Amino acid sequence: MQTPEPYQPASIYVSNTADAVTPRVFIAPQRYIQGPGVIDRIGRYLTLVNVRRVAILISDRGRASEGPRILSSLESENMEAVLCRFGGETSLEEIELHQAELDGRVDCLMAVGGGKCVDAGKSIAFRLGIPVVIVPTLASNDAPCSAASVLYFPSGVYSHFESVPQSPALVVVDTGIVAAAPERYLAAGMGDAMATWYEAQACLKNPNGVNMLSARPTLASTAIGEICAHTLFEHGVAAASAVRDRNVDAPLEAVVEANTLLSGLGFESGGIAVAHGVAQTCTSLPGIPERYHHGEMVAIGTLVQLALEERRDETARVARFFAHVGLPVHLGQLSVDTSDTAAMDTLVEGTLEWPFTANMPFDVDASMLRRALLEVQEIGESVASEVGDTAYRRLQDG
Ligand SMILES: [Zn+2]
Repeated sequence: MQTPEPYQPASIYVSNTADAVTPRVFIAPQRYIQGPGVIDRIGRYLTLVNVRRVAILISDRGRASEGPRILSSLESENMEAVLCRFGGETSLEEIELHQAELDGRVDCLMAVGGGKCVDAGKSIAFRLGIPVVIVPTLASNDAPCSAASVLYFPSGVYSHFESVPQSPALVVVDTGIVAAAPERYLAAGMGDAMATWYEAQACLKNPNGVNMLSARPTLASTAIGEICAHTLFEHGVAAASAVRDRNVDAPLEAVVEANTLLSGLGFESGGIAVAHGVAQTCTSLPGIPERYHHGEMVAIGTLVQLALEERRDETARVARFFAHVGLPVHLGQLSVDTSDTAAMDTLVEGTLEWPFTANMPFDVDASMLRRALLEVQEIGESVASEVGDTAYRRLQDG
């Protein structure tokens, strides 16, 4: 078993001569397929990738629910499947376990599940040198379309980012499956997706801002971030209610695309900034990664970034939207007490150390961040009392 050298996009795109201009680079999966029932045609789509033996990385839950449909579709195309049980964490331990188990046995890996499963799938496929196919069962995050994984320690605390050289060969999103998942997942995906435009704006404005490939963002990626935010503002509340009714309608299709395709392309090619820095730092606060989804932490991160940019009206507008779809709007709703100095210090220091904080178009220091965190608490509390916290409570208690 040979593990490839870690892939560093900067070694490809960043020139080592000081006067060279950093190029604009846009990255995307080869194909994105979304619609109700598409999972039943996955074998047909896989013929585009030219595979015969497919490893399916899937949890016990997924194996019981989506497993039979996938297996029967592969069978009808005469493809063989090797089932691998996803244990639940995107840790190096889990990735290396599957690498050893699958080495030389398959010519493609299909990851079926939530953000952690699809990220693990990308990292395993990279180590095996085979294409990866992503079948998200939740629209809760922007992981499916990117060529990168977020790695965690087995405890759930954030470890590091891993880039892989190949984008997924296929991303297949069955909206019927996504609509059957609890509403809180769709809301979390909206929290993650809403950050996209604001983070892309920061990277574009900063002449030294770079995307996930250490390259300059394109106008295309920023435009994708913008339509992503507009789609959420317009259809987010209706999409949440469609999921409550388990109904696949036009608003739900629009929001699933925003959460999965637009958010994924937008963050990877457009770049990330403080919003994700606050979110990743939240995972190191005791009890938080177990209780909250990535997108819920990114929601708070987005508000902090907007407050840092002194965009008070936009902070309140986004917080109002979050309150309507049941996302947290202040640190208290993420179980962080702003009078807990140790927690506040961790948030400030972690965000300052986050490499993509340097994408902000101005220098960020500890006192600015502390002020922004407190301002989000104040704006969020006022929005929560204006809009009410019914949606937030329903999702948290549900
Ligand atoms: Zn994210």
